[in-house]
This record gives sequence, C-alpha cells and structure tokens, in this order.
Amino acid sequence: MKAHDGMYIDGAWRPAVGTDTIEVVNPVDEQVIGRVPAGTAEDVDAAVRAARAAFPGWAATPPAERAARLAALRDILVARKDEIAETVTAELGSPLPFSQAVHAGVPIAVAGSYAELAATYAFEEKVGNSTVYQEPVGVVGAITPWNYPLHQIVAKVAPALAAGCTVVLKPAEDTPLTAQLFAEVAAEAGIPAGVFNLVTGLGPVAGQALAEHPDVDLVSFTGSTAVGKRIGATAGGAVKRVALELGGKSANVILPSADLAKAVGVGVANVMSNSGQTCSAWTRMLVHTAQYDEAVELAAAAAEKYGDRIGPVVNAKQQARVRSYIDKGVTEGARLVAGGPESPREQGYFVSPTVFADVTPEMTIAQEEIFGPVLSIIRYEDEADALRIANGTVYGLAGAVWAGGEAEAVAFARRLDTGQVDINGGRFNPLAPFGGYKQSGVGRELGSHGLSEYLQTKSLQF
Ligand code: NAD
Repeated sequence: MKAHDGMYIDGAWRPAVGTDTIEVVNPVDEQVIGRVPAGTAEDVDAAVRAARAAFPGWAATPPAERAARLAALRDILVARKDEIAETVTAELGSPLPFSQAVHAGVPIAVAGSYAELAATYAFEEKVGNSTVYQEPVGVVGAITPWNYPLHQIVAKVAPALAAGCTVVLKPAEDTPLTAQLFAEVAAEAGIPAGVFNLVTGLGPVAGQALAEHPDVDLVSFTGSTAVGKRIGATAGGAVKRVALELGGKSANVILPSADLAKAVGVGVANVMSNSGQTCSAWTRMLVHTAQYDEAVELAAAAAEKYGDRIGPVVNAKQQARVRSYIDKGVTEGARLVAGGPESPREQGYFVSPTVFADVTPEMTIAQEEIFGPVLSIIRYEDEADALRIANGTVYGLAGAVWAGGEAEAVAFARRLDTGQVDINGGRFNPLAPFGGYKQSGVGRELGSHGLSEYLQTKSLQF
C-alpha cells in the first residue's frame, strides 16, 4: 500500500500541522518503504476535537446500527485480507503465511465478535426497583504497539465503537502503514466522520499529548511497563479511566504427568512465534527435575529446526536489546543450548531462536521481558516449588499448565497469579478476557469484558 501523507481526522485525510516525518523500514532488508507524518500536539488536539464533536451522535446511534457498521468493517477486513497481510509483513517482517493467518485473521475474528456483541449486549437492565444503563465513557485515546499491529488496534477500536465511544488512535511508529490501512477500512465501512481518527507520530510527542489531553475520557494503552506506569500516573492525576496492557514473563508449567514431548514442542513454538514479540509468550518453561535433561534436549532440537524460518525482530534497537539479554544470560551462568547472540544473517534484524538451560528463577533472563525468540528452561523440585517460581515475577499476564488430566492442570492453574492460562495447549478464544494480574496491567480486552471497559454505569431508581 501507499503511505498517506496526512492524518485521518473527521472523516478525511488532512495535512499534518508540522513537516516532520517518520521513516517506515522493512526489518528484513532494512530498506525504507514509506514515510508518514510525525504528528504534534496540535494534530492530536484537532483529532480529539473531532472525536468530541462526533461523540453525542455516535453515542445516540442505536446499538444495532453500530453493530451493522462493525459488521461492514469486518467484511472489508476480509475483502482486504491479502493487502493487510502484505502490509504487516512489509513493516513488521513476519513471514507472509503468519501475517495472513494471525495478523489479518485474528482482527477479523475480533471485529466480528464485536459486531455481534454490539447487537446483543445488555446496555440496559432492571435491578430491583432500578434501571441500570451502560453508557459510553466518551472520547478514547488508544495507544498501540507494533507487535500485532492490526490486532492491537482492533482490540481497542472495535469494543470502543461498539460501546458508543469515539476514538483517536496513535499507533506505533514502526507500523503506521497498517494503521493507515485500518483508517481506510473504517471509512469504507461507513464509520461516521469523527468517530474514528488517526494521528501517526512519536510516542513521547503525539502519544504523550494524547494521554495528557484533558478532553480524552479514557486512555487505553498497550506497550512497555515503563510507559504504562507513566500513563497510569497521568490518568490518575486527572481521575481519568485507563486500561493498560503491559509486559509479561509467563510460565509454561509442565507437570510430571504431562505428555512431555508435546508440551515442550508447543512451548517452543509459542515462544518463537512472531519472533518472540508476544506479551503473553510462555518465555519460562518450568520442568520437573526428573524430566529436565530430556526437556532441554527436546527444546534445543525444536529450536534448531526453526533455523531462519522465523522473521526478524522489528528494528535495530529491539535486535540490540534482545542480543544484550542473551549476553546477560551467558554472563549470569545460564547454559546456551540453541541459538546465541550472533545475528544469523548479514542483513535484517534477525535473532537466532535461542534456548537457555540451567536458568535459575532470579536470573535477569527469568525476570525481565526480553521480547525476542528466547526461551529460559527452569528446573523445579515439586509442585510447591513450581508454583513459587511461576508466581515469582512482577508480571502476571498469561501462562500454560500441562498435566495428564485436565482436573490436575486446572487445580494448578487456579493458583497461578495470572490473567490467562492455557490448559494442555488451549486454543485462542476471541471472546475470552485478556489482561494482566500484578504489573502486567489494568483492565481486560476482548469479549464482553473488553466491551465493558468502554462503558460507565448509571442507575435510575423508581
Ligand atoms: P513503548 O511502550 O515505547 O511503545 C508502545 C506505544 O506507546 C507506541 O505507540 C509508542 O509510540 C507509545 N509511547 C511511547 N512513549 C510514550 C509516551 N511517553 N507517552 C505516550 N505514548 C508513548 O514500547 P516499545 O519501545 O515499542 O517496546 C519496548 C518494550 O516494550 C518491548 O521490548 C517489550 O518488552 C514491551 N512491549 C510490550 C508490548 C505488549 O504487547 N505488552 C508491545 C510492545 C512492546
């Protein structure tokens, strides 16, 4: 797709106030593939004003009509699926089949789920002698990361629109072309002018201006914990609603009764998927001491098989960051059994699929989010030890439990301090609430829980 040289505000592409631009780089060959405007606080203000002006009309639009617009949006995402996949591949570097299945496929499922929820959700209910109304919060500022460029957008914009909110989106600077494509889709779907607005730009400039804007009623942010904490503090100061989807260091707990080969194979695939750039990735594999050596061998073999089939990470900074974590793992005494810090190719931001054995729970690579294709395998002595290790980070986003019987796995999963757990592999469910315990965030995305984030409650007593 061709990059737009303006912002999508109030139903039209408008020139940016400033002249600065952001280069979009293909992480496979490091070539510049486009330029988008770097928005300023003035662009953000124009977008927020458009969203505010459009809010009363969209909030009053019957839910069935909002549902029809979301169904149209889903249909256009389907029609433009190949173009979406190609755009994500161009700016994120993921292999095309993965972009088709996941980067284009998942947002279609999520948009479809909100088309349905908008039509069926109980926006009004009787409670005793009261009528309780669920009303849209107002103008939403959505700030999204690059790792799943379209999914992160749709997971915020679709429920916000279903609820009757209007939106200003500030997408990640690495993947703005996907966001521009989404704006085209929203326009084609007949989302009225001002209901959805897009401002591209740098996080500390456009992102911060959006988070601090006094006329934004709710900020929904996905990204790093460091930025999330700042946004949470700003929102708290203004008594403003905030939703934060932050990092993770999720545990893949393999209990002794599990099918070890399957649990390890799926576990490695989970970490390598999207080149490790998944906040919910199971980056710590916890294995019983009696099965440890076998698991390490299986994991190393599985990682070697990936070779250079995985894509690069998103940019040079992330590549350097991931490689420095690998160096740190070696320095702290973990044993490299696959991959390593050397780049597997001359060109592009590639990192080898990497597996560490002999990782202890307090090591940096077992505590901090690496956001690259790096797995840490940790040994446990008994179930109590496994639970202590699994819960022993500041994060609590996702996880997995494998056991011979489902009941055994569920009993363990209920004791994990984390927002989502996949039992014996699980399957993606676009209706299941997604979000963190502890420092992994505040609030939930997806399904009816995701919709309720964008609603506020009013009761009338009779
Ligand atoms: P980031 O938090 O800097 O960026 C995420 C979004 O926030 C982007 O749109 C960015 O422009 C914006 N932003 C940045 N600074 C801002 C500010 N001061 N005010 C408002 N918005 C701001 O993340 P990153 O630098 O792209 O990645 C760094 C690390 O964050 C990764 O290595 C990874 O650990 C983590 N991360 C997590 C997720 C997730 O899904 N939870 C996604 C991406 C990155």
